[in-house]
Amino acid sequence: MKITKVEAIPVRQKGEIKEINDSAQDGIIIRITTDEGIVGYGEVDSAPWVIKSIIDSPVSHRTCQGLCNVVVGRDPFDYKKIWDDMYLHCNFYGNHGAAIQAMSGIDIAIWDILGKALNKPIWQLLGGKYRDKVRCYASVLMPYTPGEAAEEALKWKDKNYTAIKMGWGGFEQTTCKCVELVKAAREAVGDEMDMLFDIGYIPSDQVTIDVASRIQLVKALEPYRPYAIEEALWPHDYIGYKRLVESTNTRIVCGENETTRFGFKQLIDYCKVGFVQPDITRCGGITEASRIATYAEVNSINVVPHCWSSGIVEAASLQIIASIPNAELLEYCEQDTPIRHDLVPDDIPAVDGYAEVPTKPGLGIEVSDDAIEFYRCDKY
Ligand SMILES: [Mg+2]
Repeated sequence: MKITKVEAIPVRQKGEIKEINDSAQDGIIIRITTDEGIVGYGEVDSAPWVIKSIIDSPVSHRTCQGLCNVVVGRDPFDYKKIWDDMYLHCNFYGNHGAAIQAMSGIDIAIWDILGKALNKPIWQLLGGKYRDKVRCYASVLMPYTPGEAAEEALKWKDKNYTAIKMGWGGFEQTTCKCVELVKAAREAVGDEMDMLFDIGYIPSDQVTIDVASRIQLVKALEPYRPYAIEEALWPHDYIGYKRLVESTNTRIVCGENETTRFGFKQLIDYCKVGFVQPDITRCGGITEASRIATYAEVNSINVVPHCWSSGIVEAASLQIIASIPNAELLEYCEQDTPIRHDLVPDDIPAVDGYAEVPTKPGLGIEVSDDAIEFYRCDKY
């Protein structure tokens, strides 16, 4: 089998794009076609047109070229060698950030092809599944007032979730206000609910993102028993993370902006974070997420993939979560956008707080080509 075409297709919702932390308002779909008629889909949760350039660019020289040149003509079963070749050929401009994110989308689409070619779900190609269903946490934005925070938390408890994550939004306010939000949310849902807080990093004239301030904030939140506190610091503030982890028994977690096993080695070895959160569409795809998971496992650390975009990332995350022993939760994006709805019409639901591991071939979902055409936005 040979790959004949790699398409990087930006999609964008028809309405206004709001400057909030909701990355499901636009996206980029990777569609790979083979000479046997099998089509695989991937996604990258990043800036769509940046990723498109990285994939479509012509050759500049050996270690500086668009990823499309590396992939077309290859046998998708050579996925590991293809990964290394992409890594080599983007070396001049990449090996971190956007180039690895673009590689991730291609790698996911390749795995979708492998599963479809063998008529097996990806988790089976990765060695079998450890679980049939996964406990989800409802992932929502943090409102700005205690009353709204209480209402939002209760809404998801009433839908039978046993875990919730509230992030960004209201956490851009002062330490005092952040504590009031968490207190209100905890008091609304009671002691049983596992509550994760993604406190984000938005500096203002009253808030600075330094480790001393964050240690104070985490200490102030401890009485409300956070299950984990996410992205308290800038993603690459490794020294800050190490100090914050050492200051508390609360899980300090991060990783959605980290790429490759080399990056995660820092978070695991040096920072000793509570769990790692690779985004499968950003960290290097399914190939790299499997390596990261193995490295985390030998260090007694769990993997909770970051997952906040369309049903494609959700399916890719479920494939990884199913196939590794050291998984614990699925992030279930409850932010409703047209793209999230329409791209994957048979989106895997969270029912009573659990998502079933897909059993159909490849990613286990149908991606709608009609929806891709409808939301496609080649020019911006
Ligand atoms: Mg986050």
